[in-house]
Amino acid sequence: MDTDVEVLIAGAGPTGLLLANELGLAGVRTAVVERLPQRTGRSKALNLQPRTAEVLDCRGLLEPVLDRSQALLPSGHFAGLPLDYGALDTAYPHQVGIPQARVEEFLEDHLAAYGVPVLRGRERAALARCPGPPRTLRAVRWASRFTDASRQAERYAVGRVLLAGDAAHIHAPAGGQGLNLGMQDAFNLGWKLAAVARGDAPDGLLATYHAERHPVGARVLANTRAQMVLTLPDPDAVVVRELLADLLTTPEANRRVAAMISGTDIRYPMPGTPDHPLLGARAPGVRLLSGRGALLADAPSATVVAAADRADRIDQGPAADGGEALLVRPDGHVCWAGRDDDADGLRAALARWFGPPRSRLPDGGAPGRPR
Ligand SMILES: Cc1cc2nc3c(=O)[nH]c(=O)nc-3n(C[C@H](O)[C@H](O)[C@H](O)COP(=O)(O)OP(=O)(O)OC[C@H]3O[C@@H](n4cnc5c(N)ncnc54)[C@H](O)[C@@H]3O)c2cc1C
Repeated sequence: MDTDVEVLIAGAGPTGLLLANELGLAGVRTAVVERLPQRTGRSKALNLQPRTAEVLDCRGLLEPVLDRSQALLPSGHFAGLPLDYGALDTAYPHQVGIPQARVEEFLEDHLAAYGVPVLRGRERAALARCPGPPRTLRAVRWASRFTDASRQAERYAVGRVLLAGDAAHIHAPAGGQGLNLGMQDAFNLGWKLAAVARGDAPDGLLATYHAERHPVGARVLANTRAQMVLTLPDPDAVVVRELLADLLTTPEANRRVAAMISGTDIRYPMPGTPDHPLLGARAPGVRLLSGRGALLADAPSATVVAAADRADRIDQGPAADGGEALLVRPDGHVCWAGRDDDADGLRAALARWFGPPRSRLPDGGAPGRPR
């Protein structure tokens, strides 16, 4: 293995492979080690939720995934109770029906574009704790199991080790959320890790990974536990389920639960920033193909001028419908919103999320790594 690797990812599951793609796009020297000698071709998950579809579209990766998909399902479910996704505020009000193995195959093949290797038959020893199968069953060709176990790592970051996906949380597969949660962890983490590797990350940026994603994981654990209770063959559970089934026929209850299961209601806290309805929320429909952030503001304006010294990290585009200026992080979440003449407000957000201009970095303004 190249000893010059800056980030080593243990595990070529959907989480590790999306993270590797993000780091590859950012030009970070990355390698993936996978203990299995080859892909199994087997699938646990069979779906992508709407927020994961948005994430892939943000990088221009959705279309090839759709080409490999089998169906678009306009609904989800909560403990088997149907949820109408038509009410969601998204361009993708459906689940993409695609086996996990095809998602992994696509993401691994796409890594070749960045020269990121997947080294199979190698195990990250420090993380290996699982015993091999007992002498789970060697004749069984493929098996999977799940229980109602819910576990979450207390900390997603310990020193230079970061946890994402099933390494950070496990729960029952109720509602079809686990793979989606892991891929969205990776999308939150990738650009932050890339900024650290490049040397332009502002203080505390990497710590926001745990701060933002741990509560999202905890909420999924809670809702899957609730779903498991609702499916118990218990007379008390049955009446609660009947009550909930009735509630879910109302548009507001359907919309709220559908938004939770689909991942479209995730809004990260933005401490130290004046409140605004878009802050922390995703900016639907914004494509960030370069992996950089974006300032959406009409030029000429003071904010456009203020962002010019971060052109290596931020692209610029027009404000939507002549509206307010928005600063969007590389993961598509809005981290500042304001008037397009509020250069001071924008500068504070730029410093908080994108770090100092290159001319003020300790390297004396040497050009950054090509991106
Ligand atoms: C029966 C079942 C049905 C499911 N259905 C759904 C669903 O419909 N929708 C949904 O969203 N989710 C579903 N899930 C959950 C989903 O499959 C997981 O959440 C998802 O696989 C997590 O992806 P990951 O990349 O984090 O981990 P994994 O997919 O587990 O990938 C981790 C990889 O790391 C490798 N590895 C492990 N340890 C090491 C090591 N020390 N060194 C190197 N490599 C290592 C493993 O071999 C593996 O390839 C289901 C799960 C089960 C069990």
